[in-house]
Amino acid sequence: MVSETDLKHLQRCIELAEIAVENGDEPFGSVLVSAGGEVLAEDRNRVSGGDPTQHPEFALARWAVQNMTAQERVEATVYTSGEHCPMCSAAHGLVGLGRIVYASSSEQLSSWLSEMGVAPLGIQTLSIQEIIPGAEVDGPVSELAEQVRALHRQFHARNL
Ligand SMILES: [Zn+2]
Repeated sequence: MVSETDLKHLQRCIELAEIAVENGDEPFGSVLVSAGGEVLAEDRNRVSGGDPTQHPEFALARWAVQNMTAQERVEATVYTSGEHCPMCSAAHGLVGLGRIVYASSSEQLSSWLSEMGVAPLGIQTLSIQEIIPGAEVDGPVSELAEQVRALHRQFHARNL
């Protein structure tokens, strides 16, 4: 279930996704929150520099392994505007982070990109649970997913 606190963190993820688009990057933003509810780190997509692996979820997994104990990681939550891709799911699972809450799913993103005529990524669309067995995952959140969809429309309208 998604709580009011979860929604607040997801809103921040969408703000970060907006900032990404304003900077020519793809609309994705993520926030890492401790067991106590403290926002520890946040990041956004940064692929416009030419490195397509500069995803915020990957950056947060690396931040977590450098700055948190294994116990702190497993108790933490990662919020993200769009469900982790397979690369980021693997990073999340490898560093032993905990719950994930996302606003929009990878399946939704695939269908939106297809509707917009955008070429697929060239990697499989897999759910987080297909990469991390037993992961605690909540999402999508329909009203927020619409906001994410609008950001993808904005990004691709500019880039097509
Ligand atoms: Zn990713």
